[in-house]
Amino acid sequence: MDCLFCKIAAKEIPAKIALENEHVVAFHDIHPQAPVHVLVVPRRHIVGVQEVAAEDAPLLAQILLAGREVAAKTGVAESGYRLVFNNGANAGQSVFHLHLHVLGGRALAWPPG
Ligand code: AMP
Ligand code: ZN
Repeated sequence: MDCLFCKIAAKEIPAKIALENEHVVAFHDIHPQAPVHVLVVPRRHIVGVQEVAAEDAPLLAQILLAGREVAAKTGVAESGYRLVFNNGANAGQSVFHLHLHVLGGRALAWPPG
């Protein structure tokens, strides 16, 4: 399958890995929008939030826990951080493999743009 994030998870395309385990891979975003900007992706190809099923709940928990661990490892757990899933055109989703953005290291505006 021609999927960028599957290829990064399989180490076929290089990325700066922040964390990995049997369930997920986390790597630094190539165009960071904050001092800390890491993407957490499941190893399994899931197109986006709309494709998630109730049976995926354990995997979703792994994604969330990995996001929290990335925040701790990158030093933003105390100052705060944002976890974001962009889904579909209006949200600006550009890669169609489910991914959680971990953003931190500066004050983040709300509402988002
Ligand atoms: P989204 O717009 O929510 O689909 O997020 C996709 C993210 O992937 C963007 O923030 C891109 O900067 C990031 N991205 C695209 N290509 C790469 C890559 N090769 N390595 C790391 N991050 C990437
Ligand atoms: Zn994929």
